[in-house]
Amino acid sequence: MKGVSLANLAKSIRGMNDSLPIDTPEWRAVEGHIVSVLQCYGYQEIRLPMLEQTSVFHRSIGDETDIVQKEMYSFDDRNGDSLTLRPEGTASCVRAVLQNSLLQNVPQRLWYMGPMFRHERPQRGRLRQFHQVGIEVFGAESPQSDAELIMLTSRLWDALSIQNVRLEVNSLGNEESRANYTAALVNYFSPFKKLLDEPSLARLNSNPLRILDSKNPGLKDLISGAPLLSDYLDRDSKAHFTSFEQTLSANNIKYTINPKLVRGLDYYNKTVFEWVTDELGAQSAICAGGRYDSLVETMGGKPSPATGCAMGLERIIELRKVQQNTVLPQIPDVYVIATDDNYELLAIQAAEYLRSHMPSLKTVLHVNGGKLKARMKKADRAGARVAILIGANEAEAKKVTIKPLRTNDQQITCDEHELKEILREMLITNS
Ligand code: ATP
Ligand code: MG
Repeated sequence: MKGVSLANLAKSIRGMNDSLPIDTPEWRAVEGHIVSVLQCYGYQEIRLPMLEQTSVFHRSIGDETDIVQKEMYSFDDRNGDSLTLRPEGTASCVRAVLQNSLLQNVPQRLWYMGPMFRHERPQRGRLRQFHQVGIEVFGAESPQSDAELIMLTSRLWDALSIQNVRLEVNSLGNEESRANYTAALVNYFSPFKKLLDEPSLARLNSNPLRILDSKNPGLKDLISGAPLLSDYLDRDSKAHFTSFEQTLSANNIKYTINPKLVRGLDYYNKTVFEWVTDELGAQSAICAGGRYDSLVETMGGKPSPATGCAMGLERIIELRKVQQNTVLPQIPDVYVIATDDNYELLAIQAAEYLRSHMPSLKTVLHVNGGKLKARMKKADRAGARVAILIGANEAEAKKVTIKPLRTNDQQITCDEHELKEILREMLITNS
């Protein structure tokens, strides 16, 4: 492009990416597999706004969490209301089921898909606008509901041909056992304040559980000596966890118990889990979730137990790329060409005829004129499998010419009925 300086072109926000035509077929394929599995388990879709009152997230996620403290895109709108681009879906989903009285009929098995926004440092597997599929089950108390989420997601990895993902599980207990455990952690870490890094020191006051989440290798030994949550679990949570484990085993799901798995959001209790991979570097979790029995009440509803999880689509797509090198090019089947400008109208009509009668084919119409040779070159460059040519002879005979572009087969001139049969034979039956 002459005279255009790249420096003057508008750019997207860092960490907020475009999905280009080369990538979108893979996105569609992944989304399609996920939706099929969700429907197979009887889960229903809910669509939620991307903007919410900021209080929706403050009340639910917790003031001391990374998300609320430093990752939210919040701003005042023209009315002075504080709004936030959703950093995750669970809080919005709870808001929506309460507002629309969906919990009068439980259990509710719901899913949603779409972009989430967090002001994090962009890097591989960590974006500022990323996409999640979220799954939430309301009004289900039993450990089998937690296990069903695991079975569903496990089936999903099969459907997506994803391999080598590990399941880590843990139980956070009830509020009281968590409070006791938090006190024990503070007791344990306090004498070692000098050894803690800055974020961990801050967490000692605000959210001690999250110290266990630290990725700092220098803290590894100290953390591994910390008291274990499992020693502080209440009886009900223990029984719940045992039953959860039994259900997984009975369904041949392999898992490891990770006593350090605490999750970053405040609202979890009892079961928590993560699916992780070793093939994506530091951003290893592709799906994470757990039980949040008190969130509905926290957000103003009647108490209703709930469980759910969310998966990161960018990481899933990246993992498929690493494991399968998937490229799903979107090439046309048919490229329709008028041999010169006089037959443009006939060409449009032929293309529309194919779109009406053979909608499973991708039919592209040549535009922008040019010499016949140039038109044929475009058809070839587009990767089309056949060209349909319409010129003087075809116009007079009310026929079209089919020219195979990827084989040495002869071109054929035929009428519109034969056209359908021949294309079906060439492009559908034999592909
Ligand atoms: P992480 O420990 O990677 O920061 P998280 O605990 O903040 O994850 P959740 O809020 O549980 O993540 O979100 C569920 C899933 O969404 C994650 O497992 C991950 O696959 C994906 N995800 C979370 N944050 C991002 C991000 N900034 N960019 C891309 N994917 C993300
Ligand atoms: Mg995070």
